[in-house]
Amino acid sequence: MTTIRAILATLTCCVALSGVAFGQEDDPAAEAMDFAMHDAAYTMYHEIGHLLVGELGIPVLGKEEDAADALAVILLLNDQDDEIEAFNTLIDSADGWYFNAVKSTGSGVEDFSYYDEHSLDIQRAYAMVCLMVGKDPQEFRETAEIYEFDQQRQDDCAYTYDQAHTSWDALLEPHTVTDTPGAEISVVYEEAGDYTEFANELQSREILEKAAAVVMNRYVLPGPVTFRAALCGQANAFYSPSESQITYCYELAENMYGLYLNDIANAGDEDTEEE
Ligand SMILES: [Zn+2]
Repeated sequence: MTTIRAILATLTCCVALSGVAFGQEDDPAAEAMDFAMHDAAYTMYHEIGHLLVGELGIPVLGKEEDAADALAVILLLNDQDDEIEAFNTLIDSADGWYFNAVKSTGSGVEDFSYYDEHSLDIQRAYAMVCLMVGKDPQEFRETAEIYEFDQQRQDDCAYTYDQAHTSWDALLEPHTVTDTPGAEISVVYEEAGDYTEFANELQSREILEKAAAVVMNRYVLPGPVTFRAALCGQANAFYSPSESQITYCYELAENMYGLYLNDIANAGDEDTEEE
């Protein structure tokens, strides 16, 4: 992914892919809201990775941020309730990291946060796609090809997925719900002010509730936990070990909504016109 041509080629493909996934190609606002809500669901699963590390004392080898990304992908890839929605969530979330990276490419390599606790956005996108095609080579072949994974790399990702899945499974197995459930997760949606449109969408799709159910149905939490959607003053999400709380910021939903409308939908249109 080193040339403008390559980036534009990928832009065209990813937008087309998203359009197919949603079936709402004529309604950019609805597509953008789907995109933002898919990213919100992914973000909650990522924060659940931090939550399980913090609440259950799970050991982590390597970057915790990478481990949390891996758990988010594993949980979504194994979602039995709504596989299509889970797969669309994964594709959109990978695209989110990818397009965030494309957006910042013009600032020059010296502006990237190499010291950050997170891997670079572009690395997070490719790591996600590797786990996806590693788990399900047929379902995600097209996505992997759009991301320019050659066949050998696609094949190798099967090992990457198996290792991540087996590792998380081994660590979580002692905490799996058998007879007695663990502590409850409370879900709170705070007032959203100017972001009420996004708060309503999060609530109607039960993004936080579904994430909470995944944790409570599978793992025994030692104490009560809160999943909170709130205004934070920044587009982000956090797990607080001291409060046993995950906070999803409404600003992040608006940020991803804007990314789709400004940097993904438009990029696809411009590229199409050039052809
Ligand atoms: Zn994180």
